[in-house]
Amino acid sequence: MKEIGLYVHIPFCIKKCKYCDFISYRQNNSMIDSYVTALTKELSMHKNTLRDYKIKTVFIGGGTPSILDINKLDIIINQIHKNFDINSRAEVTIECNPGTLTKEKLKFYKNIGINRLSIGLQSFNNEILKFIGRIHSKEDFIDNYNKARNAGFENINIDLIYGLPNQDMKDWEGTLKEVIKLKPEHVSAYSLKIEEGTVLYRLLDEKKLNLPSDEEDRDMYHFAIDLLNENRIRQYEISNFSKNGYECMHNLIYWNNEEYLGVGVSAHSYLNQKRFSNTNDINEYINFINRGELPIQMEEYKNKEDEITETIFLTLRLNKGLDLMKFHDRFQVSILDIYGDKIRKLIDLGLLTIKGNHIRLTSYGMDVSNQVFVEFL
Ligand code: SF4
Repeated sequence: MKEIGLYVHIPFCIKKCKYCDFISYRQNNSMIDSYVTALTKELSMHKNTLRDYKIKTVFIGGGTPSILDINKLDIIINQIHKNFDINSRAEVTIECNPGTLTKEKLKFYKNIGINRLSIGLQSFNNEILKFIGRIHSKEDFIDNYNKARNAGFENINIDLIYGLPNQDMKDWEGTLKEVIKLKPEHVSAYSLKIEEGTVLYRLLDEKKLNLPSDEEDRDMYHFAIDLLNENRIRQYEISNFSKNGYECMHNLIYWNNEEYLGVGVSAHSYLNQKRFSNTNDINEYINFINRGELPIQMEEYKNKEDEITETIFLTLRLNKGLDLMKFHDRFQVSILDIYGDKIRKLIDLGLLTIKGNHIRLTSYGMDVSNQVFVEFL
């Protein structure tokens, strides 16, 4: 049986963060009821889609899935088990916001097979948290993190953002050191991107935002790599770090350009050489499902050339890079026969390196990874 990842989108948050451009709506009980009903229907509509697959990862992301009541999450998880074949060793993750986890919820998560938590901390500085519109303080985070450990969770990711307004290197160092003390299995650290339509975008436009320079942002990135590596939370992807054996299996599906099914508003899928995504509008999503139709807004077939290109720039995100033999087995062609000239040019520029059976980004290549990926488009 082929293996696949399942992504379930829960698009509700207590309040919108000032940098957020994800599809998320303010928590509203009647909307949550209609959404969960639609979501369970969409899951059953895909029963046949996945009949030849075994699910190896489930990722319940958002939004803030941890604001869901226990009974709603129970309905969703039961529906997943009713319709699909889940590997008994599957990685099952739920994204959580500090301040939303209780002892009862965590116990329930354990009972229904959730074995990985991804908690959005972003910063250990309460003033910065407030400024960027997070709903929690560092104390809320510590409280929820300890509750999760006490409930028996042994695989926890902490999400961080650097390059935040009013942040300097000393502050970032403080955040990293506090995080390291907690001994998480996994850390994600992304540079802040200010997207159009967000409150921070408006503040930037009005020149009311004090942001670190690009140089400081890069320094923060390299500082994080060094400090986390020294503490055995090793970088394995441009923005992701883990203890040995705790790499995120679900995200590795994306980076290895493997198949996944996404359900829920705005969810993306990649299946049978087709990328498709659901509508971004929650009302439209619910209406589609109520009419018995899949809420697909975009679909795109990928031919072999597309698949090759995408596999190159996705696998190059990983520290171990692109495996030349695996690439040959998958596409029956050597990457050096197709892109030999480009690869040699990128090696000469100090952006790529070949070692053993792998092509990898250099440290400098990671800094300017988009520049490298463009070469393969
Ligand atoms: S919690 Fe996450 S999804 Fe929700 S508003 Fe904040 S950044 Fe966006």
